[in-house]
Amino acid sequence: MITWQNLTLAEQKSALSRPAIANRADLTSKVLDIVNMVKDKGDDALLTLTKKFDGLSLNSVALPSSQAEDIIATLGDEQRAAIELAYGQIKRFHEAQVQADVKVETSPGVVCELITQAISSVGLYIPGGSAPLPSTVLMLGVPAQIAGCKRTVLCTPPDTSEGNKGGITAEILYAAKLCGIKEIYRTGGAQAIAAMAYGTESIAAVDKIFGPGNSFVTEAKQLVAQDPAGAAIDMPAGPSEVLVLADANANPAFVAADLLSQAEHGPDSQVILVSDSLQLIEKTKQDIESQLTLLPRADIAKKALANSRFILASDLNEAVEISNQYAPEHLIVQFDNARSWLSKLDNAASVFLGAYTPESAGDYASGTNHVLPTYGYSKVLSSLNLADFTRKFTVQEITPNGLAAIGPAIMTLAAAEGLDAHRNAVGLRLEQLQKEKSND
Ligand code: NAD
Repeated sequence: MITWQNLTLAEQKSALSRPAIANRADLTSKVLDIVNMVKDKGDDALLTLTKKFDGLSLNSVALPSSQAEDIIATLGDEQRAAIELAYGQIKRFHEAQVQADVKVETSPGVVCELITQAISSVGLYIPGGSAPLPSTVLMLGVPAQIAGCKRTVLCTPPDTSEGNKGGITAEILYAAKLCGIKEIYRTGGAQAIAAMAYGTESIAAVDKIFGPGNSFVTEAKQLVAQDPAGAAIDMPAGPSEVLVLADANANPAFVAADLLSQAEHGPDSQVILVSDSLQLIEKTKQDIESQLTLLPRADIAKKALANSRFILASDLNEAVEISNQYAPEHLIVQFDNARSWLSKLDNAASVFLGAYTPESAGDYASGTNHVLPTYGYSKVLSSLNLADFTRKFTVQEITPNGLAAIGPAIMTLAAAEGLDAHRNAVGLRLEQLQKEKSND
């Protein structure tokens, strides 16, 4: 346990540091090889790499639609209902984010507009290495559907489980069906990102790529985003993080469960508890030990917990300050009257207020998006939302009288910048208007 006040400023900074990616140069070089292989050999590269990394020999990258329907038919009623509930919740929250176009007559005869349009083609990466993630299909597919993207492509590693080898899990396929996604490809990792960015025989290139993934996926997204011939990406998303703020009245079993739900994501997950109560911290640690024994992914959680931090703050204001400094992806506030602290909470990507608001709700079914900036990027970047699937452009239309009114000012400004062609473009029109006026 760390007592915040006992640390120097440098030690405080270090206590909140994230682990650097080990050997980034090696990762970049491996991923670049994969990206170049896909650029050169297209589908053949995808099939070769699927054999190499996923251990499956496939004949085609696309999943035949009849096979998709057969797999969906195996889905139980309970799973179907849960996916439908989550779909409805996420849809309601994202539909409310539709923004009206702006149209303003800034002066008589001068009309300016800001219009929102869906990004034409988007690619969704759905992780599938250690666990298939149908929730991520909904988090990406629902806003793409509401925005009205003309083409939505989904790539995910093929299922390796017995009984569905080479297929895709029924949950992912059903979630995709609800979101109206028709193009589904069995390819994962950096190769899937390269395919969506540059195109192959089966997969036409998309304009923007969304979705989380492991370090190969994340590195590939960064590489294709830097290439003007590649594709835009949603955000840099690293290993998942949670910071829990808890006071002496918080329920330690709830706090322990929230910390563990993050720790089980992966060994590189970040888990931090900040409290002003030594007793709460000690009891939470005990509850973590007892709950761990019941978790099938205990080994993964233990690795993440080895890098976890338990920080004792001198009061709740200091606890909030620590969270603001860290800028967590997920921030859970288990203080009495948690909402009253909201205006003091800076920099978190997604905030969960009160004892009965676990992170799991936002991960699956409350309606908010679970694709969030990590690594402190939440200081400046937003949670994924509808606007990420759209672009905005301006339109203007000016009447002769409108130009006559603002034209002289434009000519003065153009002259000040030494841009005579700009000045002439207005001057010629004003002269023409003058001639027409004197002919009347
Ligand atoms: P994944 O789909 O991201 O990666 C699996 C693919 O990686 C494989 O199909 C393979 O093609 C490729 N691969 C595996 N080993 C390789 C190697 N040695 N060289 C090159 N390529 C290789 O699935 P995953 O591995 O389970 O990772 C999912 C990640 O997504 C986790 O880190 C998890 O924390 C993260 N995640 C983040 C969020 C978020 O919102 N931030 C949400 C869900 C998941």
